[in-house]
Amino acid sequence: MEVDIISFDIDGTLIDHNYNDLIWYQALPEELAKKEKITFDQALKTVKEEYDRVGERDYRWYDIKYWIKFFQLDIDYNKLLHKYEQEVRIFPEVPLVLSELVQKYHLICVSAMPREFMDIKLKRIRTYFQETFSTLSDYKQLKNKEIFTQIDHTLKVEPQRILHVGDHEQYGYRAALEAGWNVLLIDRYCSGFQEKYPDSVIYSLSDIINIIDIK
Ligand SMILES: [Mg+2]
Repeated sequence: MEVDIISFDIDGTLIDHNYNDLIWYQALPEELAKKEKITFDQALKTVKEEYDRVGERDYRWYDIKYWIKFFQLDIDYNKLLHKYEQEVRIFPEVPLVLSELVQKYHLICVSAMPREFMDIKLKRIRTYFQETFSTLSDYKQLKNKEIFTQIDHTLKVEPQRILHVGDHEQYGYRAALEAGWNVLLIDRYCSGFQEKYPDSVIYSLSDIINIIDIK
């Protein structure tokens, strides 16, 4: 595989879901419970119902500012996001693999998450990435074929010179593939993608080294 740029999704690819869970299912309901003087469990039930009502296909689902406003919480979104900053967990092999890949390739991140989340999550590995794209902040959309195409135009590079690594079948894999990018689907939790995409599944970021020509 001859590529110049390697692109990474963030959640589930570089960083585990712990931090997200803490923000959406701990920090936010905690604030709601405080404000409404209800129990944490009641607040958690309420936020879950509201998240479901909006749904994961709607970009508002991912927008912390939207939810603070929606629940009329008296807290700065930055304060809320930094509360659990220490809980951001990078998958163990990631820093070493990035430090090797960066010797030969331009590395970028393409994630749906809003920029304010990205800045906190990538803090300890930001130095490896030449550019980061937040599709929600930059384009107000989740990842799709058109967004990937817009990104390769921005980078002024042919789609086939980019390899994208993501963990989501639709947003991480199919969308980039439809845009003509090379794609690897990382299946960290062995969800059985191997049968469906036998040539495109990896289980850890270290597997990339065996697939592309690192020499
Ligand atoms: Mg992901």
